[in-house]
Amino acid sequence: MSADKSPFSGTVNSSEKVVENILRPKQFADFPGQDRIKENLHIYIEAARRRHEPLDHMLLSGPPGLGKTTLAGIVANAMGATLRATSGPALERPADLAGILTNLKEGDILFIDEIHRLGTVVEEYLYAAMEDWAIDIVMEAGVYAQSVRLTLPRFTLVGATTREGLLTAPFRARFGIVERLDYYPPEDLARILARSAIILNVPMDGKAALALAQNSRGTPRVANRFIARARDVAQVLGNGTITPEVAAKTLSMLGVDDNGLIEMDRRILVAINDHGGGPVGVKTIAVTVGESEDTIENVYEPYLIQRGLLQKTPQGRKLSPRAYDLMGFGPEPGAVGSRPLF
Ligand code: ADP
Repeated sequence: MSADKSPFSGTVNSSEKVVENILRPKQFADFPGQDRIKENLHIYIEAARRRHEPLDHMLLSGPPGLGKTTLAGIVANAMGATLRATSGPALERPADLAGILTNLKEGDILFIDEIHRLGTVVEEYLYAAMEDWAIDIVMEAGVYAQSVRLTLPRFTLVGATTREGLLTAPFRARFGIVERLDYYPPEDLARILARSAIILNVPMDGKAALALAQNSRGTPRVANRFIARARDVAQVLGNGTITPEVAAKTLSMLGVDDNGLIEMDRRILVAINDHGGGPVGVKTIAVTVGESEDTIENVYEPYLIQRGLLQKTPQGRKLSPRAYDLMGFGPEPGAVGSRPLF
């Protein structure tokens, strides 16, 4: 199965989008987890409101599905502002950006998803817009080129990125607020699932919620996909309630093993093991497992690192001692007892 169609890949198909939007919290009170970020944002929002100023530009980073888009919407609601959403790849030319910027109103929030994928020219246009609330538009091409300065309403840019490291330093420096979202602990995911169960109108046993939460890869998007599928399983094979048995059946149907790993995780670990346990470059891993480098770096690798199964070194990716144990790969090369005695 191509990972782009996998429920874990970070991409979202249209029917999943419908469920995502139904489940998307609109206010902080409905957004469990990320407590430190929520506390910070509360203060920044309150201060900006008291000063009757737009919020500082904000960069949200972290793996896909952790709530960056959701937080942008919540911030807009809390500021009483309108959210305009676009994405880095959609803003191909400066004219695309100019079209959006000139339609903004005072205090609006401009959300740019995948902001690390903005082209250099568009990014530089954005600098002036962020700093001076103005853009220079070139009216004619060639020798008659004339540039006209357009003043913009004071807006807040909220950028989201899965790859903060790819942003240039000057761009990053233009965000007054920079927050990094972390994977959620199972308790927070269980709270998210409990809320989703109410919205989806499906009864769920507490133990079942915990089982789904523990296997959700620290990611609310994955947790919500699990509950949507578990609801189907409960309706067809059970009595409508998500019981621990229904949860277990759902997880196995989705290819989650007893260690909470999915097929692609295992393939990545096996690929590194086949290369002597690493270090091995991400390109080689990508070719071996048949997945794009980008998806490996954005989606699978951060989770494997967080689980303590993979290590990133300047020479490439390595298996951790824990991975040898968990995957039953035999002794780590160089570990005590792995070398012949003579
Ligand atoms: P990102 O923009 O980081 O890829 P999204 O904001 O689109 O992630 O979130 C993906 C899904 O997970 C959405 O349905 C969203 O409502 C849900 N979600 C994310 N974080 C939370 C949270 N803390 N509480 C409840 N639902 C959440």
